[in-house]
Amino acid sequence: MTTTDTTRAQSADETLVSRNPAAPDDVVATIRSATPDEVAGAAARARGAHRAWVGLGAAARAAALHGAAQRVEDAADDLAALVVREVGKPVAEARGEVARTVAILRYYAQQAFDPVGAVHEPAAGAGLLLTRRRPHGVAGLITPWNFPLAIPVWKAAPALAAGNAVLLKPSPDAAACALRLAALLDDVLPPGLFTVLPGGAATGSAVVEAADVVSFTGSTAIGTEVVRAATARGIPVQAEMGGHNAAIVLPDADPKATAAQLAAAAFGFAGQKCTATKRVIVVGDPAPLRDALVEATAALALGDPGDGATVVGPVIGERARDAVLAASASAVEAGGTLLAGGQEPSGTGWFVAPQLLEGVPEDHWLAREEVFGPIAVLFSVPDLDAAVALASSVRHGLVTSVHTRDLDAALEVVDRVDTGLVKVNAPSTGVDFHMPFGGEKESSRGPREQGKAALDFYSHDCTVSLLPSGWAR
Ligand code: NAD
Repeated sequence: MTTTDTTRAQSADETLVSRNPAAPDDVVATIRSATPDEVAGAAARARGAHRAWVGLGAAARAAALHGAAQRVEDAADDLAALVVREVGKPVAEARGEVARTVAILRYYAQQAFDPVGAVHEPAAGAGLLLTRRRPHGVAGLITPWNFPLAIPVWKAAPALAAGNAVLLKPSPDAAACALRLAALLDDVLPPGLFTVLPGGAATGSAVVEAADVVSFTGSTAIGTEVVRAATARGIPVQAEMGGHNAAIVLPDADPKATAAQLAAAAFGFAGQKCTATKRVIVVGDPAPLRDALVEATAALALGDPGDGATVVGPVIGERARDAVLAASASAVEAGGTLLAGGQEPSGTGWFVAPQLLEGVPEDHWLAREEVFGPIAVLFSVPDLDAAVALASSVRHGLVTSVHTRDLDAALEVVDRVDTGLVKVNAPSTGVDFHMPFGGEKESSRGPREQGKAALDFYSHDCTVSLLPSGWAR
């Protein structure tokens, strides 16, 4: 959404301007884009650094990643403040993101000691038959702005732990966070091993051209292009993309507790999470949940993201704000009702109050496509079959939550929905970094990321036959 948002960051691959979304006159960073030649030069240095890094051994790699975790932890307050300022994330969530970034680095630091293969008996004869996982070389990482530290690190840490070097192309809207991360890690990682290359589409394309493996997170439109380019080069690629996530609420769910979860999952951080709840599907009478959800939405604190009580800060740019308001207006015009949509704070920031709608036709684009902001639609359906069918009727398949006390119904949803994650009595948002993460359908391409799955992605098997010298078949 933001790649063409000229009010936010100029991504014409020359000068990037990253602004504070709560106060757009506050320029957070003005950064020159890395040119394709500079990307190629960084890739050549990274290739050399990767060979030296592998030669260091697991203990040194683990120590360096632990050192990186310590640097991030020591700078936690500054980093959280920068996240608030650059992307408008409410400070309580920003602190959580920094803590998660530290935990991810520590987790993958230890994974450097994981087994890298398996030993088998040869099918015939003497010796050993074994597999050994080897790094690809240079990992090209392309990241969005909404988790400006956690997403770069949940890609970079496993890539480094597996022995790769990293080229990171952050979002223009989060370039200052990425450059701060690189500065913090500068002397704990060997030179050339972790390079941040700020820029827009041209820099991103150059990274895809230069890397040996590519991991992308962002919109489905751009991710599809990146997958196509990497596949044409014959290199491994994964892409985590948009979501249009449903929460299925059964009649036995406690309306108040469920509404509190759903309001936070739909509108926290102004709905700018790939896992945000965008569709609430109520089975049976929608009235109790509707009333509770309107109340819970109204109770969310909207405003200055630097205030510890704020839950809903600004959206990333003017274009993003306009997209939310246009979607809401269009859905009302098509017959929908706006249940919640209060007053934005005054001032120049890019704020938009949470928009909760009902009665939106199922074929309206708001009901079918991700709008990356604080907007969600309430539907009611007669039974669980209809709920599962509606939840699965969109092209995305990232996460579904189901809210019920009925274990059989919950298990049925777990079995039937076509999403990569299913949450029972938990918000759609929130990811466990030690578990595989990814979606189905147009939410994802390629293998899962995070957890042990990431180490597999950033390495490949080599099968080795080890025979005694002089042995003849
Ligand atoms: P975006 O697709 O606009 O940009 C993502 C990255 O791609 C940026 O770094 C951008 O500069 C780069 N890019 C743009 N054009 C490129 C090209 N031609 N070649 C290579 N790189 C290019 O996404 P965004 O606005 O930064 O992020 C919001 C989107 O990200 C939403 O759709 C959201 O759902 C999704 N997202 C998904 C996940 C997930 O894990 N599934 C997580 C966070 C965000």
